[in-house]
Amino acid sequence: MQNIKEYTEAKKLALKESLIDSSLKAVIVQVGNVEASNRYVRNKIKDLEEVGITTELIKLPADTCEGVLLRILDGLNVDESVTGYLVQLPLPKHISEEKINLAIGPSKDIDGFHPESKTVAATPLGVYTYLKDMNYDFNGKNAVIIGRSHIVGRPMHKLLLDANMNVTILHTRTSEEDKRFYLEHADLIIVAAGKAGVLNKSYKLKESAIVMDVGINFNDQGKLIGDCEKDLQVAFQSPVPGGCGLLTRLAVIENLIKLGDK
Ligand code: NAD
Repeated sequence: MQNIKEYTEAKKLALKESLIDSSLKAVIVQVGNVEASNRYVRNKIKDLEEVGITTELIKLPADTCEGVLLRILDGLNVDESVTGYLVQLPLPKHISEEKINLAIGPSKDIDGFHPESKTVAATPLGVYTYLKDMNYDFNGKNAVIIGRSHIVGRPMHKLLLDANMNVTILHTRTSEEDKRFYLEHADLIIVAAGKAGVLNKSYKLKESAIVMDVGINFNDQGKLIGDCEKDLQVAFQSPVPGGCGLLTRLAVIENLIKLGDK
């Protein structure tokens, strides 16, 4: 498996060359000023602009009401100069994320969270595309996904099932005994629980297994860590940082380009 940082840099360079003379425009809507979100938004803008996509940030105060945000999205849905947009999550508690995701026009939905969207949720898409580009043979192999959220676990399940894998999702109600059983037989493990140490060295894993660590957590020293213990005895484990986050950012660009393909 190729180093993920090198892979994403090479792909961005190729995308930049393919986008010369294009007039794609992305908009990012952010509500509030949470530092982690500021960082994600900065990175997304940097990536999009790096490949030549004009990007505008609409940053709204944390006390913006749901109605105001919905009106802004209505405007973006009909603005022909905007190829696509995303609303940075999480939103402040008084705004329903579900309502907002459903208000994003499917033809403008960079994140792929709307059920009728023609794009796929960026994190699963990024992980899947990376494996595909590495010529990973999905056929008939066992995939285990830890976490069943609508933005990672479930769309990941669909992508891998469509690629002919035998897919199992583990979640908070899965017994420890079953978790050990499924993990022991897994060829590909996608970890997206948001809990550090959910996959650790106490689990027996195949030495040939590939582990993709989507989790983002901060340890007691404030250092960014994933959901997996480091240095698992497997064939490949994606690092955190420098792993699935980069793949997600690449998929955001690819989704925007897809929205521009009328
Ligand atoms: P979420 O909280 O919506 O879902 C987490 C899922 O994990 C839930 O389905 C829950 O049932 C399951 N879960 C929690 N603890 C578990 C446990 N101990 N065992 C088994 N299952 C367990 O989170 P999400 O939005 O899907 O994100 C998951 C993680 O991935 C978070 O850390 C998030 O920050 C990270 N994330 C990273 C990126 C990226 O770009 N790298 C993108 C999206 C999410």
